[in-house]
Amino acid sequence: MRLSKLLFISFAVILPLVIYSPVTAQDGGQDQPYYIVQEGDSLWEIAARFGVTLEDLQQANNISDPGQVVIGARLIIPGLKGVNGQLNSITVAYGETLRSLSRRYDLSDTTLAQLNRIISSAELYAGVTLIIPTIENQNPVPTERANLTSGQSLLELAVLHGKDSWELALDNNLPGTWAGLPGDTLRVAGDSQGDAPAGLPESITKVEVDPLLMIQGGTTVVKVSAPPGMTMSGSLADRTLNFFPQDYGYVALQGIHAMTPPGLYPLTLAGELPDGERFAFSQNVLVKNADFPYDPSLEVNPVTIDPAVTEPESELWASLGVLVTPEKMWDGLFASPVPAEFKVCWTSLFGNRRSYNGGTYDYFHSGLDFCGQTGTELYASAPGKVVYIGELTVRGGVVVIDHGWGVYTAYDHLSKILVQPGDMVQPGQVIGLGGATGRTTGPHLHWEVWVGGVQVNPQDWLKRAYP
Ligand SMILES: [Zn+2]
Repeated sequence: MRLSKLLFISFAVILPLVIYSPVTAQDGGQDQPYYIVQEGDSLWEIAARFGVTLEDLQQANNISDPGQVVIGARLIIPGLKGVNGQLNSITVAYGETLRSLSRRYDLSDTTLAQLNRIISSAELYAGVTLIIPTIENQNPVPTERANLTSGQSLLELAVLHGKDSWELALDNNLPGTWAGLPGDTLRVAGDSQGDAPAGLPESITKVEVDPLLMIQGGTTVVKVSAPPGMTMSGSLADRTLNFFPQDYGYVALQGIHAMTPPGLYPLTLAGELPDGERFAFSQNVLVKNADFPYDPSLEVNPVTIDPAVTEPESELWASLGVLVTPEKMWDGLFASPVPAEFKVCWTSLFGNRRSYNGGTYDYFHSGLDFCGQTGTELYASAPGKVVYIGELTVRGGVVVIDHGWGVYTAYDHLSKILVQPGDMVQPGQVIGLGGATGRTTGPHLHWEVWVGGVQVNPQDWLKRAYP
């Protein structure tokens, strides 16, 4: 009895020290945080990254010439109180929170926030690079997640996972076993789930956002590994995501509009688990500037830029890409819509900012222009169903094909249309002949790809098999 009581007392004395001093005291400079110089680094950049002056960085490392820093050199980073070990960069995955990162890397969230100068959780967007101190030979603790449900105590959760409740509190930087909050996702030592989205329920084992750093005009794929029988919904910026069941879970495709101002936008995932539990998680993602070039102003027939004509046509055009067919009809890469001789002959790329007849740059090029002549055979790019044909003022003779899952292709300026709405088409099938109808300066094919109601860069679909 005496021994166990003694153990309990010593444990109670040590405990606050462990919790409130997650990093050990500095030891005569020996334990000062350091950074190993990587290829492409400059001393100036390193100083900026860690928020220190170049002079202080030079002084701390006895460097007289800032140009003479070699790859692999160990640089002491001055002025970082309460931090030691090697400072590394990590990329924040979608689903990570400041709390989950602090748990994974065994750091207080204050240290993490200070080290990375994070002021609000909104800045912890998916894809951001963070500085994480790691002690040599001490990798992130392999963990699995456990959700604390409403009315469940930490003790109950610990018993369920065959753990000790104090150990669980310690591992999760909680001041005591009473401090767990309902809905909190805790770290339980055990099987590794390194890429598990900590902010989401534990039955969602993985969320892949590809690309994590988005770009204007890009196509984003969101894959959620989760059990069947869920309802899955979400949104990216102001667009609703359409999820479709897959053997691993659910997938959604969404285009990023070419005119989206670069910046942070929320990616929200929500739904209901098979047991009826509801969840919602939101984290910002970054949309980068694609730096689309500005084309010289184009001279066109004034009728084709009259809002009385262009607006109704634009409304019609936008309405054609809205309907989401649940059946995916394509598989693999999209095929080029033109004969081999014109395959890489492009007269204008997607996204270019445009002005007509000396006006303002309110337009962008919504497709990829292929060379060709009037009469050149044009092909369907992928299996699908023809949903629209017509003669329009701006776009000329057009064919629109639905490929399912909210993905469409459109073919403009045709001189002859060889399909009817309702026709099922295959890649390589001739759907019409090239021309110069509508708003154009000469014969060419303007080819568009739509994803989730947004025109995207068609070249992506020629290079990569989606999803
Ligand atoms: Zn075009």
